[in-house]
Amino acid sequence: MTERLYYHDSFLYNFDAEVRSVIETPRPALILDRTAFYPTSGGQIHDTGWIVTSDGKLRVTEVVDANDNDEDGRVVHYLEAPLKNVQPGSHVTGEIDAARRRDHMQQHSAQHVLSAAFVRLFNMPTVSFHMADDYCSIDLDTNSLSKNQIESAERMANEVMIENRDVDVRYVTREEAASLGLRKLPPAERDQLRLIDIRDWDLTACGGTHVSHTGQIGGILLRKSEKVRQGYRVEFVAGQRAVATARRDFSALTEAAALFSAGIYDVPQQARKSLDEIRSLRKQREQSQEELAEAQAATLLAETPESNGRKLVVRTFSDRDLNFLKLLAQKLTRQSSAAIALLATTSPQPALVFAQSAGQPYDMGTLLKETAAKLGGRGGGGKDLAQGGVPRSEGLAEALATVAEALR
Ligand SMILES: [Zn+2]
Repeated sequence: MTERLYYHDSFLYNFDAEVRSVIETPRPALILDRTAFYPTSGGQIHDTGWIVTSDGKLRVTEVVDANDNDEDGRVVHYLEAPLKNVQPGSHVTGEIDAARRRDHMQQHSAQHVLSAAFVRLFNMPTVSFHMADDYCSIDLDTNSLSKNQIESAERMANEVMIENRDVDVRYVTREEAASLGLRKLPPAERDQLRLIDIRDWDLTACGGTHVSHTGQIGGILLRKSEKVRQGYRVEFVAGQRAVATARRDFSALTEAAALFSAGIYDVPQQARKSLDEIRSLRKQREQSQEELAEAQAATLLAETPESNGRKLVVRTFSDRDLNFLKLLAQKLTRQSSAAIALLATTSPQPALVFAQSAGQPYDMGTLLKETAAKLGGRGGGGKDLAQGGVPRSEGLAEALATVAEALR
C-alpha cells in the first residue's frame, strides 16, 4: 500500500521515500512506501519526473496503479532504465516534473469549474472526463448543445476562474457526503470520500490533483464539440495549454490569410469565394473536355478508314488524363457503330482505355487486362469498355500497335 502524498498537497514536488520493491521485468520499476507521483486514474494522466539516488537520477516515464480499481493499492513508478544499487529498504528522493503537474492541475480543475457551469446553466451533467497530452474533453448528458450554450458556459467558467475562489480538499464519510449534495458521487463502495470543494461553486468527490485557487487555472478555452453516443463531447484547454492553442490557431489563421492576401477574419469569406470559383472552373472545364472529346472523336473517325466494316482508332496521348480517355472512348463508340478504340496516355499517369461500339465482337475487358499485365500494370472492365493503369509510359504505344495488329 503506497501512501499518496498528492492527496494532501498537490504542490508537493519533492519527497523522500523508502523503496518497497524493485521490479526488473518487463520494464524496470519501483514501488515506494509513499509517493507524490500521480498515477493515471479518474481521467487524469500520470505525472512524470525523476527518482534520485546517491548513484544518480533516473527519469520516471509512467506511473500506474498496480491495481486499477483499488486506489489504496500500490503505485508503480516505471523508470527509463534499471536503478543500480537499489533494493528494498533503500532511501530515494522523488522529483515531480512540476510543469507537467501544474498543467494537469489546471486542466483537471478547469474541468470541475466547467462541469459545474454546464449543470448550473443548462442542467447538463458531465458523464465522463478525458485528459490527453494536448487537450481534454468532457462528455455531457444532453440531446443538444448550441454554440451559444458553449460560449455561455465558457464565459461563466472564466468568471469563476477570475474570482479566484478557494479550492479545498476535505474528507467525509459516505453518509455525510449524501447530505452535502455532491455534483458527482463515485460508484465505488468506500467509507471515506475525498471532496474537492470549489467555494460556493462546486463540490465533488475526486482523487485527482487540483489548484488551490481557481485563478491558478489561468483561463479556459472551449474548442470542438461533437455528438457522441451518450450526449455531446466538448473539448477544452486551460492555462498555458489555452495560450499555446490560441497561438497555434493564430499562426494557422495568419498563414491562411497570407495565402489570400487578406486579414485573418476575412479568411472564411475568402475561402468560400475561392471554393465557388473552383466549382465554377471545374464545371467549365468539364464542359470544355466534353466539347473537345466530341470534336476529337469526330476528327479521328473521319481520318480512320473503315476496313472489314470496322474503324480501328489507335492513339497514344502525352497530356491527357484517364477521365479524358474514357470520355473520348465514349464519344468514339457512340458517334460510330463500327468503332474500336485503343487509347493510351503517357502522362500525367500512364493509362489505357479500350472500347468498342455496342454489337462489336471483341472482349475489351480481357484484352485490356492482358495488355496491362504485359506492361506490369493492372486493369479490366466489361466487354465494351475497359480501363487500366501501368507503372511506366515506355512501351505503351508499341503495346497498342501489337493489339491493333491482332485485331486487323
Ligand atoms: Zn478532480
